[in-house]
Formats: sequence, structure tokens, C-alpha cells
Amino acid sequence: MSEFQVDLFVIGGGSGGVRAARIAARHGAKVMLAEEYRMGGTCVIRGCVPKKLFVYASRFAHDLEDMAGFGWSVSDARFDWPTLIANKDKEIARLEGIYRSNAQSAGVEIVNSRAVVDGPNAVRVLATGERITARTILIATGAQPALGPEIPGCDLAITSNEAFHLETLPRRVLVQGGGYIAVEFACMFRALGCEVALVQRSETILRGFDDEVRAHLTTEMERSGIRMLCGRTLTSITRVEGGKSVLLSDGMEIEVDEVMLAIGRVPNTRDLGLEIAGVEMDAIGAVKVDGQSRTSVPSIYAVGDVTNRVNLTPIAIREGHAFADTVFGGKPWSVDHSIVATAVFSEPEVGSVGLTEEAARKQGRALDIYTSAFRPLKATLSGRQTRTFMKLIVDQETDKVLGVHVVGPDSGEMIQLAAVALGLGATKADFDRTVAVHPTAAEELVTMREKTR
Ligand code: FAD
Ligand code: NDP
Repeated sequence: MSEFQVDLFVIGGGSGGVRAARIAARHGAKVMLAEEYRMGGTCVIRGCVPKKLFVYASRFAHDLEDMAGFGWSVSDARFDWPTLIANKDKEIARLEGIYRSNAQSAGVEIVNSRAVVDGPNAVRVLATGERITARTILIATGAQPALGPEIPGCDLAITSNEAFHLETLPRRVLVQGGGYIAVEFACMFRALGCEVALVQRSETILRGFDDEVRAHLTTEMERSGIRMLCGRTLTSITRVEGGKSVLLSDGMEIEVDEVMLAIGRVPNTRDLGLEIAGVEMDAIGAVKVDGQSRTSVPSIYAVGDVTNRVNLTPIAIREGHAFADTVFGGKPWSVDHSIVATAVFSEPEVGSVGLTEEAARKQGRALDIYTSAFRPLKATLSGRQTRTFMKLIVDQETDKVLGVHVVGPDSGEMIQLAAVALGLGATKADFDRTVAVHPTAAEELVTMREKTR
């Protein structure tokens, strides 16, 4: 008989934890998983999935505007926020059930409780007080919204967690932040007809994205009517009759119905028993791991947002899978974090894979840059004033395409396939040899012949 009650104890039933638990169980391990809130984690319950449902809802507003130019007229179109929330909640509950049953049918025992580490080989289940010994522990506790420095009235603000459960659609919203969440929610609220102000501390949104992408999206967001207030922060929030008054660092005052903070996320490692077990963390509390997701304690591993590597669902899932195959399946592999395609579900969408021009130049490479900005075909009849932007970054020496960046409809879909090409080491000549699919926006990616610089 084993000296431990289980082979693997997973703390956290989100993207990374569930994948790791299921795969380890399939490899024959005895697995227990604790989830303190709802199975599925951030992505399913209050992240990617409900967010994308909101984005779909908001885009119908544009479709309604666009269809007139194509001969359609729809009278009496109305949007009902509570219907969206109720239907979204129903779908999320369904997905939560699937996550639970998939894990259980793989043989994972699920414990509905908060759990904390109680030494290198033990976990304490707080709901029962029980101490479970485990050969291996996986920390997959994710992250939560950062609240930033305390300012007067900060308790009047919401985060993305609450935004998914607002009872009414606010008429006026101020979103603080310039990252994925701020940009996506600002665009979604705006398309649904809200007055939106986005307040960002630095001069541009979407740090880490290509500078031309950042500039193009800023222009598009401004064109849609979002007030882009960069180079400012919030200094106070006061409740006033009919709403909230927000004072900005430059003295500007704005009255809104909701203030939403989207200023990053902090790893869920507080009071988790990690320090006592000897698990090293960085300055923001992210668990330090090696390429195999092993922490400074050999029996404890960590995957997903809690490690603050690349905080995206597919990465958490892969890290969980690699961990389980490596530790329980005798098939060691590790996740390549170097080429990760990503999309921002803004309006218009951003799709990005590979190096930005700035990052490629920093590596000292000589580059050929190809860019194209054009009015999408659909906009010619709809009359919508929007432009699509595409950019290829090519290594002069090898002709390899180092980065592909798109701002425009469906660019999230487009970039997935561009990522395959980049992963295979495609050259600009390979792109040029590829026959275009016509008429599409994506064809521009294989027909850019003239260097911009
Ligand atoms: P999580 O999914 O957060 O799971 C961690 C789980 O651990 C949670 O369920 C939590 O309740 C539980 N937990 C924490 N502590 C304990 C404890 N002590 N005991 C028991 N349980 C505990 N990524 C994308 O790729 N695409 C997107 O479009 C996208 N949109 C997003 C939109 C929003 C609004 C947000 C917030 C995030 C979005 N993300 C998106 C990021 C994505 O959700 C995360 O990268 C992903 O969920 C990380 O998975 P994880 O397993 O590391 O953590
Ligand atoms: P991000 O890290 O993307 O952006 C944080 C933003 O907040 C930045 O603009 C940053 O400014 C600003 N900021 C940070 N600290 C402060 C502060 N103290 N005061 C004022 N502003 C501040 O975080 P998000 O919260 O938007 O999202 C978290 C993560 O979730 C993302 O990074 C991403 O990994 C994931 N996600 C992915 C999505 C997708 O794939 N589509 C969608 C949503 C989330 P500055 O630029 O100056 O640093």
C-alpha cells in the first residue's frame, strides 16, 4: 500500500487543474481535486466564455446598423440585458456540469472546498478539516483581479467578476486599464450603446502588442465613440445622485453609473501555505517554476495563471497536460511559450502571433516590414467607417516571417492559422506562394508584395 492517500492532489478546478487531474487519472494515478468556487475556473465561469458571449451580443448592434446598406430594415430591435445575463448563466451552469462530470468520469475525486498546502506532501481541506497526504501536489489556483492602490471610494468600483452579474446595463461606464480586459469590456459596452470612457495610466493601450496595432486600435476605439483618456489614473470615486463621480489625476471629473477596474490580475497564493512548505514565489506572489512546472519543492508543481508565465487558457491547459504526462505518464514534454497566438476581442478584433516589430528590432535583426490598411469590403455598403490593418515582420537574413499582426473582423480566427505557418518556420516566400482565397480580408496576408520599410 502507498504511503500517501492519493498520488496527486490538485488545488484549483480551472483550465490547468482540471486538465492535469483528468490526464493524470487516465495515466492510472489516484487523483483528488479541490475547488472552492465553481468547476471550470476563470475561463468558464468569469472569463473567456461569458466574455465572448457578451462580445457576440454586442456585435449584433453593429450588424443591425450595417444591414441597412444591404437593403435590410429591421424595426423595433431592442436589447434586453437581463435576458443576456440569464441565458449566459444557463450556459455557464451547463459547462460547469460538463467540467465536473468529465473529471469525475476520468476517475478524479472532486472536493468542493478551499484547500491549502500543509507541508510538501499534504493538503488541508478546509470544509472538513481533513488532512490528505499526497505524493505530488499541483497548485492550479489561478489569479484574481488586482484592485490597485487604495483610493477614496475604491469600494464603489467593480471588476470583471462583478461585470458578469450586473443587474442592469449601465448607461455610462468608466473602465480603468489598457490591457485585454479593459479594452474588451470598453468595446463591448460601447457597442451595446453605453457612453464609455477608458482611463489608462500610460500613453497607449495594450502594452506588449505591436505599436502600430496599438495605435490603429486606439483610433478605431476613438472612432466608435469611446473617450480614450490615456496618461491618467483615478484618484477618487464619490457616490453622487444618480451615479458615481470620478476624479482623475489631471483634475478631470467624470460622472458615470459604473466604474470598472481592469488593471491586471494577482496570483492566488495568499494564505495557501506555500511559504511554510518552502515554495518560492516572486515579488507579486507568483509561484516560481522550472520548464517542467516544478516548484522549489520537488513534490509540488504549479501551472497556469498562478505561475504568471503566459496567462491564457490554452497555455494553462497545455501546462497541466504536460505536467500530467511528464509526472504520471512517463512521457515528458514541456510547453513552448515562445510562439503563442493571441486575440483581443475588441471592436475591431486584434490577432497577433510572433514578434512585434519593437521586439524583433531589440534582438538586433534587420527586418522587412509589410503593412496594409484598407477598408473592408463589407464596410463599402454598410458605410461603417472602419479600417483593417495587417502587418508582417520578416527577417531580412532568413526571409522567415517572425510576426503576424491583424486588426480587423475575425482576426482571432485568422491568427490561429497564421500561427501554424509561423510554427512551421514559414518564410515570406512561402506566404507569397500561397494562393489567395478571394474575396476575403485574410488574402491580404499572402498578397503583400511591397515592403513598407
Ligand atoms: P483558473 O481558471 O483561474 O482556475 C483556478 C481555480 O482555482 C478557480 O476555479 C478558483 O476558484 C480555484 N481556487 C483558487 N484557490 C483555491 C484554493 N485554495 N482551494 C480550492 N480552489 C481554489 N484567456 C484566453 O485564452 N482567452 C480569453 O478570451 C480570455 N478571456 C478572459 C477574460 C477575463 C475577464 C479574464 C478574467 C480572463 C480571461 N482569460 C482569457 C484568461 C484565462 O481565463 C486564464 O488564463 C485561465 O483561466 C487560467 O487558468 P488556471 O487554471 O490557471 O486558473
Ligand atoms: P493586463 O495585464 O492585460 O493589463 C493591465 C492594465 O492595467 C495595463 O494597461 C496596465 O497599464 C494597467 N495597470 C496595471 N497596474 C495599474 C495600476 N496600479 N493603476 C492603473 N493601471 C494599472 O491585465 P488585464 O486585467 O486586462 O487581464 C489580465 C490577463 O488576463 C491578461 O494579461 C491576459 O493574459 C488575460 N486575458 C486574456 C484575454 C484574451 O485572451 N482575449 C482577455 C482577457 C484577459 P500599463 O500598460 O501601463 O502597464
